[in-house]
Amino acid sequence: MRHVAIVGSGPAGYYTAEALQKADDIAIDVIDRLPVPYGLIRTGVAPDHQSIKAVSRRYEGVALTDNVRFVGHVAVGDDIGIEELTGLYDAVVLATGAPNDRPLAIPGADLPGVIGSAAFVGWYNGHPDFARLAPPLDAAGVAVIGNGNVALDVARILAKTPAEFGGSDIVAHARDALAGGNVRHIHILGRRGPHQIAMTPKELGELGHLERASPRVDPGDLPDEGDDAMLEPGMRKSVTHLRNFASNLVAKPVTIDFDFFAMPVAIEGREENGGRVQRVIVEKTALDADLRSHGTGEHYAIEAGLVISCIGYQTPPIPGVPYEHGRGRFANDDGRILPGLYCVGWARRGPTGTIGTNKPDGARIAELILEDVPRGTGKTGRSGLDRLLDSRGVTPVTFRDWRRIEAAEVQAAIEGAPREKFVSIEAMIEAIGR
Ligand SMILES: Cc1cc2nc3c(=O)[nH]c(=O)nc-3n(C[C@H](O)[C@H](O)[C@H](O)COP(=O)(O)OP(=O)(O)OC[C@H]3O[C@@H](n4cnc5c(N)ncnc54)[C@H](O)[C@@H]3O)c2cc1C
Repeated sequence: MRHVAIVGSGPAGYYTAEALQKADDIAIDVIDRLPVPYGLIRTGVAPDHQSIKAVSRRYEGVALTDNVRFVGHVAVGDDIGIEELTGLYDAVVLATGAPNDRPLAIPGADLPGVIGSAAFVGWYNGHPDFARLAPPLDAAGVAVIGNGNVALDVARILAKTPAEFGGSDIVAHARDALAGGNVRHIHILGRRGPHQIAMTPKELGELGHLERASPRVDPGDLPDEGDDAMLEPGMRKSVTHLRNFASNLVAKPVTIDFDFFAMPVAIEGREENGGRVQRVIVEKTALDADLRSHGTGEHYAIEAGLVISCIGYQTPPIPGVPYEHGRGRFANDDGRILPGLYCVGWARRGPTGTIGTNKPDGARIAELILEDVPRGTGKTGRSGLDRLLDSRGVTPVTFRDWRRIEAAEVQAAIEGAPREKFVSIEAMIEAIGR
């Protein structure tokens, strides 16, 4: 019997389990620090994009097979060390994602009211780490820094009316706070131009159909239309949306401005308001021949009482695991870290690609493991893990437990919503009946 531990129950973890479970004589434990599975499918993907979240049904199918077990509420590096795990399993795969925000390295980035997208997204999606965030939504102006899909998610969630959250699983505290908020002017800042965005057409197009908010693009920021021909088809569609936003100005109470060629250089606060952020100082940029941005010396200010940086993520290091600080991920050679230790998904590649990108990644790691560990080495696997956790008073959450949590969440749903999520670990554990 080969024993494999996969640390992380997000897409990368479950695609790896799916590929591995086809092998004979294999037992796979999927360990997660939370009592609930699926990683960013639950806590990252936007609550108003339920069709995307539905991919979790596929992972459920994997989790319910005999040779795969969910071991929830066990944090690797905390409840159990990496060397202990590699001592118990023939192969350990780190699928821990990249949950930490890349720091915004400008003066004022630590002022109250400046937050990262991991925190803000985690807050509206009910991640227990961020349930108490309380972002200052009394602000009329919000600056969203970044030109990727996460920035679009954040701007859209800020702009929607309560009715537009119908059918979503946005959590109650976010639903209420957004409904009682005062956000009127949202700025999405990108250092480069419309041809350099990392925004996909579907997500961008949605901004044009919001009830009370309209997107605005300065026509002067758009390149010559003929230049769109050299873009790949998806990007061309995205840029067509930006052109439509520039030409069809619709007056609505909330504005979403695309500030292109805009590099935030400092964030200033107001002393009489506890230092809370008041404005973002932006330097206009120009692109060089290699399409890199550089400052032009021309500055302007954006009034903002809330700043959300959406500039990428990092994997937190785990003691004993080689780490590549520059890239914020585990040091690895095509997924191999050390003998018996692998990584996959965002923990391997960094925070790029879609959910689907993790599927070939998982298949490749499964192939490497089956190549490296052709048969079991006599390690104890799950029975050893159970003994060790028991000796430490750690009681894992099983998949059956998770389904009880899920059933309670479905039962608590408001009308039209798929579920009302528990936002604290205590409430999740209580729902299991412990
Ligand atoms: C805001 C946001 C929105 C997105 N929206 C989309 C979208 O609409 N469509 C799309 O295709 N992609 C989207 N993505 C990308 C997609 O979510 C990722 O590609 C995918 O989740 C990465 O999978 P992963 O398994 O590597 O990491 P994750 O999904 O982050 O899973 C990592 C798991 O590891 C667990 N973990 C971490 N550390 C430990 C530890 N020490 N011990 C035990 N467990 C641990 C975590 O609890 C988590 O469950 C979005 C990403 C973000 C951030």
